[in-house]
Amino acid sequence: MHDCLFCKIAAKAIPAKVVYEDDLILAFDDIRPMAPVHTLIIPKEHFASLNEVPAEKAGLLAHVLVKAKEIAALKGVATTGYRVVLNTARDSGQEVLHIHFHILGGRPMLWPPG
Ligand code: AMP
Ligand code: ZN
Repeated sequence: MHDCLFCKIAAKAIPAKVVYEDDLILAFDDIRPMAPVHTLIIPKEHFASLNEVPAEKAGLLAHVLVKAKEIAALKGVATTGYRVVLNTARDSGQEVLHIHFHILGGRPMLWPPG
């Protein structure tokens, strides 16, 4: 296993509030929620960021987005609205170097983001 926080969560070595899981991905609530709904989706396979995902994994990325809308529905924000955020590398503010998609909802969002 990579010495990586989200790999450890995927392996259940570190606990998380799991919202959805299948063979390819895990979704769990963010430990420091920035909105009433703040869930993270990770592929179980380790990629440091979007920049490291090869083209052959396009299906995995598509799977994440298909499940993102289902998780938004599960969380009750599909209709009211939600944002899917994928921070990549330094200027984005990415802190955890295992690709993760934020699902944020339950309040109006500002645009442009900070
Ligand atoms: P980013 O800034 O895009 O890298 O986002 C990392 C996110 O991971 C932040 O929103 C953190 O609150 C969240 N996070 C860090 N550690 C944990 C953890 N153990 N369980 C759940 N979420 C976490
Ligand atoms: Zn990892």
